[in-house]
Amino acid sequence: MQDQVYLDYNATYPILPEALEAVNECARSCFGNPSSVHWAGRKARKALYDSRATIAKTLGVDPGLVIFTGSATESNNLAIRGHFEAFADSHVYFLSKVEHPSIIEAAKNLKRRGADVYLVDVDTKGCLDIHQLKVLLDKHGRENALVSNMFVNNETGVIYPIRKISDIVHSHRMLLHTDAVQAFGKIAFNAKDLDVDYLSISSHKIGGPKGVGSLYVRNKSSLEPFILGGYQEFGLRSGTENVPGIVGFSRAAQITLQKMDQFIEHTSKIKARLLEGVMNLIGGVCINGDSCASVPSTVNMAIDGVDGDALLIGLDLEGIAVSSGSACSSGKLDPSHVLLAMGLSRSLAKSSIRVSFTEKTTMNDVERFLKAFFSVVHRLRFSTTRCKA
Ligand code: PLP
Repeated sequence: MQDQVYLDYNATYPILPEALEAVNECARSCFGNPSSVHWAGRKARKALYDSRATIAKTLGVDPGLVIFTGSATESNNLAIRGHFEAFADSHVYFLSKVEHPSIIEAAKNLKRRGADVYLVDVDTKGCLDIHQLKVLLDKHGRENALVSNMFVNNETGVIYPIRKISDIVHSHRMLLHTDAVQAFGKIAFNAKDLDVDYLSISSHKIGGPKGVGSLYVRNKSSLEPFILGGYQEFGLRSGTENVPGIVGFSRAAQITLQKMDQFIEHTSKIKARLLEGVMNLIGGVCINGDSCASVPSTVNMAIDGVDGDALLIGLDLEGIAVSSGSACSSGKLDPSHVLLAMGLSRSLAKSSIRVSFTEKTTMNDVERFLKAFFSVVHRLRFSTTRCKA
């Protein structure tokens, strides 16, 4: 059997050996409850303190402003719902149409509770309609209302101009949250220079363990917690911290930042070869998202006349893991809301796949993908034609 090829790093990144070692070592030696006063608690508290300092350093912020959570989904919910609870008179939310479901669903929940929610369009390349954002803020903005715009889109890799958005938002005396899950380790940034009020990241997207996330909060009084009862994490997220997970996250963050230049250089070469190979092999393929304003580690493409889920399964049978342009909602596969927002038809959105890679991906992996891609697409197109005949 041929080696398996993993090209779904935007979904999750296998745990780095160094992070795994840090998790195991901490689970063995820092077993105390970090809130306990005695020596065992102090040891766990020190591990937590050091990890917070490391994550804060990688984000360029003060450690006292970093809150650990159970996932970036939780961080996003904490930003949106915590803001709602903190500002009774500013229940107005502006989001791009391509946000992660953890933002969109949290905002929908607030809408049911009386908040006003405005969605901002993207163009056919997935880039934000900044003019529309300004018009919406002029018309419906209110002091301390919240804008949430992701830094890098998880499906297309498109990068959003967060610093520019932050200038616009702050000139309206409003607050900005950014979901930086897919930017962390792929783009050099500093949360202070970005001038954001809240920023979410996730451990398992960078080779840390699953079940750990973080939220940077510029001003802790701009959030009310929704998990109560323990006063951990500055009172903003109760519950005994997952200390081994947090230690593994901080180790992964250190390594990720050290290898970022190599990551960018290598994935740019991988992307160039992948695009060249796909375009030479097969007609009727178009790239979703602005290739120039995107991270080099993600390629999203629509393959005319092919069902993306059938392609995903066909590639899986060849040992190749990618993801499709469909999302599971209420038990059925719906086309991606991101691709629909970019103006793709439902059928073209459902004909799309996402390939995502890292510094670990080899040229041999790309060649394996291209070979399998060609044969599966060919087979699916041929079987569709025969069925129609
Ligand atoms: N935001 C973005 C952009 C993501 O890609 C993801 C994960 O897919 C999340 C949030 C949620 O992250 P987590 O799996 O840590 O909840």
